Amino acid sequence: MFLLKALLPVQTRLRLRSYSWWARGWFYRGKEVYCPLCQGSFQKFLAFGVEKRPHALCPKCHTLERHRLLWLYLQEQVQIEHQPLAVLHMAPEPVLQEKLKRLPNLQYRSADLTSPLAMDQVDIQALPYPDASFDLILCSHVLAHVPDETKALQELRRVLTPQGKLLLQARIFTDLPLTLEEAQATTPQQRLQAHGQADRFRKYGLDFAHRVSAQGFSVESVEYAKTRTPQEQRHLGLAQQEIIFVATPSPHGAP
Ligand SMILES: [Zn+2]
Repeated sequence: MFLLKALLPVQTRLRLRSYSWWARGWFYRGKEVYCPLCQGSFQKFLAFGVEKRPHALCPKCHTLERHRLLWLYLQEQVQIEHQPLAVLHMAPEPVLQEKLKRLPNLQYRSADLTSPLAMDQVDIQALPYPDASFDLILCSHVLAHVPDETKALQELRRVLTPQGKLLLQARIFTDLPLTLEEAQATTPQQRLQAHGQADRFRKYGLDFAHRVSAQGFSVESVEYAKTRTPQEQRHLGLAQQEIIFVATPSPHGAP
C-alpha cells in the first residue's frame, strides 16, 4: 500500500479510489437512503468513526453526515448553484470541491496548508489573499487543528467581504462548558493525551460560538438537520446534533 502511494501520482490514486467507491455504491444500491452529494440511492449509509457511528458514510462518495448537511444548507440557504459568489474553501473535502469547482457562477479557490488536492497551499494564520476577497468561506473541522485560533479567525474575517458569510463546522464536546486547551501539550504525543488527537490543539466545548464572536463576528448556531422530519433525517443520513455556525463580520470588529 505504501509502495502504491509512493509510486502513483495523487490524481491517479484518487481515480482508482473513486472506482472502488463506485463499485461499493453499486453493491449497496437500494432505495432506503439518498445522498444529496452524489445523488445516489442506497440500502443504507455505513458505520464510520473511531467510535463507530451508524448511518454515517455514503457507500459511493464517502461523505459523512456533516458534508450532506452543509451541502443542503448551501443549496437551500446560500443558493450556491445560482448566486455569483467568490468562495474560499479551506481544507477542501474532495467531493464537495469537485461540485463547487464545476459551478460556473462561482469564483472558487480551495486552500490547505499541505494537501495537494487544494488549489493553494496556504497557512490559515497568514492568508495570502487581499482584504474582502470572498463572499463565502467554508471552514469545516479545521480550527481545532490550527495552533493560533485567534490569528486564523482574524485572517478569515479580513478576507471576508463585509456582507460575507463564514460557515464553520467543528466537533463540539457537549460535556465541556468551556473549550479545553492544554497549553503545556506541545508535542503530538502530549496533544493526543490532552485533546484526543495528535494534531488537535484544543477540544471545543459549548463556548465555540462565543470564541468565534470574540474575534469580530456575529454568530448564529444553525441546527439545520432539524428543518427535516426524523424520517427525512434518516433518509438523508443527517445527524441532529451537527451544527452549522454561520458567522458574519460584526460592523465594529472585535469587541
Ligand atoms: Zn454520496
